[in-house]
Amino acid sequence: MCTENSRKIYEKAKESIPGGVNSPVRAFQSVDKEYPIFIKSGNGSKLYDEDGNEYVDMIGSWGPMILGHNYPKVFEVVKKELEKGTSFGLPTKKEVELAELVKSCFPSIEKLRLTTSGTEAAMASVRVARAFTGKNKIIKFEGCYHGHSDSLLVKAGSGLLTFEHQDSNGITEGVVKDTITLPFGDFDKLKKTLENDNDIACVIIEPIPANMGLIETEKEYLEKVRKITKEKNVVLIFDEVISGFRVSLGGAQKVFGITPDLTVLGKIIGGGYPVGGFGGKKEIMNLISPVGNVYHAGTLSGNPISVAAGIETISILKENPEIYENVNKKTENLVNKINELIKKYDIPASVNYFGSLFTIFFSKEKVKTLEDAMNTNDKFYSIYFDTMLENGVIVPPSKYEAHFVSYIHNDEDVEKLLKSAEKTFQKIAEK
Ligand code: PMP
Repeated sequence: MCTENSRKIYEKAKESIPGGVNSPVRAFQSVDKEYPIFIKSGNGSKLYDEDGNEYVDMIGSWGPMILGHNYPKVFEVVKKELEKGTSFGLPTKKEVELAELVKSCFPSIEKLRLTTSGTEAAMASVRVARAFTGKNKIIKFEGCYHGHSDSLLVKAGSGLLTFEHQDSNGITEGVVKDTITLPFGDFDKLKKTLENDNDIACVIIEPIPANMGLIETEKEYLEKVRKITKEKNVVLIFDEVISGFRVSLGGAQKVFGITPDLTVLGKIIGGGYPVGGFGGKKEIMNLISPVGNVYHAGTLSGNPISVAAGIETISILKENPEIYENVNKKTENLVNKINELIKKYDIPASVNYFGSLFTIFFSKEKVKTLEDAMNTNDKFYSIYFDTMLENGVIVPPSKYEAHFVSYIHNDEDVEKLLKSAEKTFQKIAEK
């Protein structure tokens, strides 16, 4: 497969953009190629690169593309909206419509504020939690990722794990001191911490962690987290930027039947356009400016194009519950078949999945913790990524991310993925 144009663009990109990319996980380098593939276009379940190669896309823009690229109804709505102007810096009726639509799916959200990214939404939710409780510290979990605001970049997942930095430079000691990080899934440690420290404003958690690879959550753990945070008057924030509208219309909180105080959203609520949002209890959200004195703002917050795409995407999901059945069943079948291939070639691999998300880890044992994920075989993952790419399937370049199955993936795509996976496993079995 010729990817010469991507190589040339990358050489140029490095001269004007740090690392040649605008987000680190895009800088994937395979064993075979020391440059990322530059995408020219996407349609349905496919991506096309600058050399004209076609790929089955298993990244889905890291989550938003549950309906695939340029889903016709969403595309039509966006085209119409573009004709009306693209940004006003003044409120629009559609923002109210989106807020009402989100609220109808997430009963825990009484009020919602839109942002331009998940990062901003998570950052602002922590700020309002601090203001509400009058406390300073926050608890997050190792390997969970909540965007790149200072206090949430301590022991974070996603690109930080991929590039082997558990913390970012450029963050003050004070900020690090106020962020307590604990292992995901270890309730006793959380309990002890909450019992010994009265200065904790919030616990922020990915209810289905997908930024250290996908970790399958146990409902009982989340129930205990909910119970103790309530007892200690600590705000519980569910970061559902990935799981919101992905694992169900009402996100992970609907699946597990747990009500957080605040929820962070992103990705699907913008239907593939830049957006984020956070919302929850009225008494907390009413502290936000201009009602209260917790400042939050954004020139492009609630951008009309993103909002229109979000409304259309959520409406389609709401009116067609079979979409969730479709993507979940497709993922389950796919994972079962991958597991059969793992058995056939007797390779050290296991698959974690939830809804339409999955991660292949190269280790015999089931991956349950960040430590388990870190101990899986990196070399085998690189072989997997390279072989899939060479055979026309783009999978996450890092073992610390998830594959996203979309409604538009068809039998042919699934077949191609399985054939490519089989070639990968054959190679690994020969090592
Ligand atoms: N929270 C989670 C759980 C995420 O996965 C991400 C991004 N992948 C974010 C927050 C940050 O969102 P954004 O990239 O839109 O800033």
